Amino acid sequence: MVYARKGEIITCENGHPIGVFNRDVDKSETARVDQIDWLIDPAPKDGDPIGELHCQCGAAWARAPRWHSVQVFIGKEWRIL
Ligand SMILES: [Zn+2]
Repeated sequence: MVYARKGEIITCENGHPIGVFNRDVDKSETARVDQIDWLIDPAPKDGDPIGELHCQCGAAWARAPRWHSVQVFIGKEWRIL
């Protein structure tokens, strides 16, 4: 099953762009930061603790204890890998 398709955009809950998937990612894969072309600076790094990550506007765009168990906001919904 596909988790995210190439070109899908991660946004914050207010719709600000955060990053774009640079390839299809299957649900069986481990989430990694190099699956995404980041539009934010600094870009997240593999191994970073996540907790809840926020846009500059204050809205959340990711939440998880770790990168391999991550929820990101894509197309107006939280998607769980
Ligand atoms: Zn925002």
